Amino acid sequence: MSTGEELLRSRGLRVTRPRLAVLDVLSAGGHLEVDEITRRVRQRIDSVSTQAVYDVLGALSRAGLSRRIEPAGSPARYEARVGDNHHHVVCRGCGEIADVDCAVGSAPCLDPNVAHGFELDEAEVTFWGLCPACRSRRSADD
Ligand SMILES: [Zn+2]
Ligand SMILES: [Zn+2]
Repeated sequence: MSTGEELLRSRGLRVTRPRLAVLDVLSAGGHLEVDEITRRVRQRIDSVSTQAVYDVLGALSRAGLSRRIEPAGSPARYEARVGDNHHHVVCRGCGEIADVDCAVGSAPCLDPNVAHGFELDEAEVTFWGLCPACRSRRSADD
């Protein structure tokens, strides 16, 4: 596992404390909203504006160090799991997001019959359903 400094340098990004803090927060895993990322960054370094966190997330995403996902109807989330073309399952009840490995193993995993002349490099798939907590809540209501 490389350190945050090595990751930033390997992508030609300047090493700054906000960048290191955001990388650290994302590396804990999960799919985090900007508000949550900002809250956790502020536990590591004081005085970081929400705008600064957005700027860092933009730089990290452009550099391929974080991935932005935005399921319909939810705020954008960010994660550190990049480069493996994995997909997401989203709960319609509470918005919980979990990773789903690529259905076939390489990008793009959908192999459409008609690509309309496009050269494909990514397939973004969102599975929708109800998470276990929402399912048991629902059956308790019955
Ligand atoms: Zn749920
Ligand atoms: Zn993910």
